[in-house]
Amino acid sequence: MIASNYLIINKKAQKFSDIRYAGHALVFLNEEGRPLNYGVLALDDSIYAIMCCDEHCALALVLDKDGSRSVEIVMWQNGETYLESKGRIAEITNKRISVQDYKFSSYAWLVAQKLDEGNRVKVVDVIDESNMAVCPECGMLNPAGSPYCLDCGAEMN
Ligand SMILES: [Zn+2]
Repeated sequence: MIASNYLIINKKAQKFSDIRYAGHALVFLNEEGRPLNYGVLALDDSIYAIMCCDEHCALALVLDKDGSRSVEIVMWQNGETYLESKGRIAEITNKRISVQDYKFSSYAWLVAQKLDEGNRVKVVDVIDESNMAVCPECGMLNPAGSPYCLDCGAEMN
């Protein structure tokens, strides 16, 4: 359990107290009820993938906007608020949220990096190991059927 809610944009963390929903956008507010720096997240086509880690009450959003990729991570202190927000974000974006384990953040960064390199990647549930194949070189879990490891690039067969 973490002590506060956090919004982490490109690895910079800010605390937030509350979230407001403004149409198809989320606004993250500080203790004084004012929006955080870069605290408005548009839930639109710029979202490439959303991942969740229930154990950490966290979501990772991979954004693909105007030719640049970024990762936003939202961590909730409270499990109930997390579940409620997760449901609402899934509803607004109409996107499936893929279930990840505790490595969700590095996985989100890997996906962003692949997009930067011009590759489209399929994001799968990491905790369902029947969908996964283990890289023979580095041990990273990859979607079953991937020709190359997402992490080290080794051939998967
Ligand atoms: Zn590998």
